[in-house]
Amino acid sequence: MSAAEPRAEQSGAMAIPTVTLHTSESEGTEQADPRANEVVFDLQDVSVAYFGRVAVEGVSLEVHRHGITALIGPSGCGKSTLLRIVAGLDTPTGGEVRLDGQTVRRPGADRGMVFQSYTLFPWLTVVENICFGLREKGMPQARQAEMAAHYVDKVGLRGFERHYPKMLSGGMQQRTAIARALANEPRILLLDEPFGALDNQTRALMQELLLSIWESERKTVLFVTHDIEEAIFMANRVLVMSARPGRIKAEVAVPLGHPRHYTVKTSPEFSALKAQLTEQIRVEALKAA
Ligand code: ADP
Repeated sequence: MSAAEPRAEQSGAMAIPTVTLHTSESEGTEQADPRANEVVFDLQDVSVAYFGRVAVEGVSLEVHRHGITALIGPSGCGKSTLLRIVAGLDTPTGGEVRLDGQTVRRPGADRGMVFQSYTLFPWLTVVENICFGLREKGMPQARQAEMAAHYVDKVGLRGFERHYPKMLSGGMQQRTAIARALANEPRILLLDEPFGALDNQTRALMQELLLSIWESERKTVLFVTHDIEEAIFMANRVLVMSARPGRIKAEVAVPLGHPRHYTVKTSPEFSALKAQLTEQIRVEALKAA
């Protein structure tokens, strides 16, 4: 396949300062996971201030094993800040994040992150990018190759293993970034607007891809997006953040089953959730404006 071919793809809410989340995959799935109630990580009264200005205030939540939690809210409300704190890339000015009961102080291989902007190493091929963390861990080369092949297949990049990022469309670069994050076998996947730079069609396909991967791998996922439809389609629970200083103002369960097909987006249940969340976000966006 030529390097040019991939380009074809480029182509009046109630205020609730803090909540306890029970982000379990058991709802809407055919088989309840006996460990679904296990808390993977929790935030205890987390606040963040930058240069004395409060960005996030008093956020407490629990995230349970295998759920997909979406964080939505107006721009600048602190979504990415919360994600970075869970990743260990930022430190809260108050409160703490605990992973398996231990305070998070730094990034770790147990948390994989995918950002909006393409973060692949441009001098490495798709496979080399996917294997980057594995090589750092000292994994034997044969095992690295097996893992890479597995995740190349998962994200639909077979035939592109030797391509460099500049030879790939935006969607394919994000597929590689997702494969790289998954290859490290993190317990938690942290996604910050991972499809924000993609066109609508590619974005929709990537949502389906990620959801199908979640349906087979059942990672615990925290997902930041400003797109309400994306949040409902992807998540089991949606957390709505208030305008700055960001607090969790509402929690909405998404009782849509799995496997989740894209046609669910036209169902009455989906529309009702969308209307409810649109109103919540609008109130906050007006405050922010
Ligand atoms: P969101 O992801 O919801 O758009 P962010 O978490 O990126 O919001 O930012 C929340 C607020 O904190 C914003 O007002 C932003 O300007 C501020 N902020 C974020 N990171 C920094 C930083 N490193 N230094 C100063 N201010 C920051």
